[in-house]
Parts: sequence; structure tokens; C-alpha cells
Amino acid sequence: MQLIIHRGTHEIGGSCVEVRDESTRLLFDLGLPLDDRENIKLNINGLYKNDKPEIDGIFITHSHPDHYGLLSSVNSEIHVYTSKTTANIIKNVSKIKGENNYPDSNLSIIENPVNIGDFTIIPHKVDHSAGGSLAFEIIRSGKKILYTGDLRFHGRTSYLSRNLAKIKNVDYLIMEGSTLGRPNQKLKTEDDVFDEITNAFTTNKLCFVNFSSQNLDRFISVYKACLRTKKSLVIDPYTCFVLENFKDISKNIPQWNWNNIRVYFGGGKHTKNLADSGKLFTYKNKKISAEEILSNPEKYVVKTAKAICKKILSRYDISKIEYIYSMWSGYLDNPSYLAILKPQIKHIHTSGHAYIRDLQEFVQKIEPKVIIPIHTEMPQKYSQLYDAKIKILKNGEILNL
Ligand SMILES: [Zn+2]
Repeated sequence: MQLIIHRGTHEIGGSCVEVRDESTRLLFDLGLPLDDRENIKLNINGLYKNDKPEIDGIFITHSHPDHYGLLSSVNSEIHVYTSKTTANIIKNVSKIKGENNYPDSNLSIIENPVNIGDFTIIPHKVDHSAGGSLAFEIIRSGKKILYTGDLRFHGRTSYLSRNLAKIKNVDYLIMEGSTLGRPNQKLKTEDDVFDEITNAFTTNKLCFVNFSSQNLDRFISVYKACLRTKKSLVIDPYTCFVLENFKDISKNIPQWNWNNIRVYFGGGKHTKNLADSGKLFTYKNKKISAEEILSNPEKYVVKTAKAICKKILSRYDISKIEYIYSMWSGYLDNPSYLAILKPQIKHIHTSGHAYIRDLQEFVQKIEPKVIIPIHTEMPQKYSQLYDAKIKILKNGEILNL
């Protein structure tokens, strides 16, 4: 058996792991790099559209493009396995976002162990900022690999990641280490974020909150904070559509037709694509206008989309706005229409990735023979933090297992 990490040994984003033997080749994740737009394509034969297919299965951990983004160039005869939620995002949501190639992907839902050649692949649900995230346990002739994908232990479904720590006899733990380069990070949980957002909403000001529509945990925190402070949440049609694609996770996931949710039709690319697909009109009985929001500003929390944000900022006193930025602070510099609000923006966020303390506890429970760093800029730090043999690979290096 051999292991190759094609990308991810010394970087965050664009992960791809190959596990193979004489007759079977499997890939785990096939992501786009986060910033390097030059070297997107990986050198993997038998994978791409014009190749004779030689890959026996691709397993995708979750719906962040740095884990699945290269799927659009894959030969559609190759089977792709992932969770129902991730498949929904890849097939449906990517289409509305204008990333048209993914709906052609040959997706199968994996809920139970799958056997391919001499390999058994077992999916395990984990807690991460993408709903429906998986880790994969890979077994072949008594040897066991555990690939974590991205995970954390402080979200609403942290019990899932703690369950993963119950797996025994792991020979090789391929483990993410996104936070190893962020030593001064505050150890905040999603529950802490909920408390802080609730406090921020306890005001007569018009509240804006900016977060990713696909961050399901954050949506639930914001929604519950609205209930707690008796406000209605205004979302855009794209967010309505994303929520519908999370329905399979639980019937408790808030939906656009729930009582205190309203929909602002602001135009823009996603709204246009929803209109073209015939989906947009279904949301129209929840429609709200900027005028209606501004006639009762203390009653609303607006999930910002550019259109509504610009419209309200142009006609409203900014000192009467509470603006909460609830994403990674690195994204904050970009939009210029936010510049006038910048001095008063409150940053309330927690990471999608495990804190070092939690990863240490995870390793102590798993007791792996070897840890192989991935999805980290700091692989050399692993040996100071974890009590196991550490094997740092180079991208493309072959490791015989
Ligand atoms: Zn991720």
C-alpha cells in the first residue's frame, strides 16, 4: 500500500491524498488552492476528462472548494463519494453560484462502509464549519489510515468529532493543523458566538450581520439570537436556497418559510440564476422591501448581501446601525462599500478548525502509531505538540505503508 499527498503537506487549501495498491487507486479530497491560481492542476494520471480513467473512487470530505474544487475537471466515469449534504452543495448550490461544471460529477452518497478492491472506506461525520462534513477511515489488510479532513471540537456538533476519537488501532493519522500558525487564537466556541451575537442584537439599532450562507452553525446562532431578541431575520434568496439544501441534516434546520424569516430580493448574480432556474418565485410571499425594513429598523436583523447593504447605507444614518462581521477577519478588508462602517464593525467569530488543545486531546485518545501532517502551514510544529511519530511528507512524495 502506498500513500501520496499530492497537495497539502505544507499548505492550507487544495488538499489531495492518494492511497493505492497494485490494483486500486483512491483519492481523498481534490481541492483548489486558496490563493495560488497558477498551479491549480495536480499531476495525477488517469484522472482528468481526456485521460483513460484509472482512479477507482474519489472521496470528498466536505463542501469547501479547497477540498472539492478540482472535481470539475475530472473524468465523469470516475465515481465520487460524499455525504448527502455535500453532494447537494456541489450539485445544486454550485450551479446557482455559477460554477457550472460540478453538476456533471458522478456523485454517490456514502453513509455506510464501501469496499473497493481490497480497501474498505468508512465515513465518519465530524464537526466543521461546513454542514455534512466527513472524515474517512481506510482499511486494507489489517492496516488502518484515518484522514480527518477539516474538523473542530467547538461547534454545535462537536460530539461528532469526539466520536471520531473513539476509533482504535490507527496506524496512520493524516491530520489537519490549520490553527498551528495561529498561536494567540481565542478559544471561543459556537455557543460563545451565540451569546455575543445575542448581546449585540440587544439594541434598538438596525442590525446587520455578515456571514457565509453555507456556515450552518453560524446561521443557527444568528437565527436563535433573533428569536431571543424578538427580531426578524432578513436573508437573500441564495441563502433560502442553501438552507433548503441542508434539509436532509435535520428537520430543525431553519427554513425561509419559518415565521420570523423574511426575504430581500436584491438582484445580483445568484438571484438571477435562481430566477433562471425557476426557483426564485417560490420565495416571493416572504418578500420584504428596504422601505419596510427602514420603517421598523429595530425589528430586523439583516444578513448582509451587497445589494441590500448598499441600498440601506445610502439612505440611513450609520450611527444607528449595529454591524457584526462574523467571518474570518482576513476577508474584512475587501468590500469598499463597507469602508464607512469600518470603525464601528464588531467582529464576532470562531474558527472552523480545531484548536491545538483539542487536537492534542484527540491524538491522546486515538494513540496513532504515526501522524502525517496535512492542511497546515506548520508541519514542523507537530513534533512539539503531539506524542506520536511524525512523518512530514513533501507534496507528491510516495510513502510505502
Ligand atoms: Zn473546510
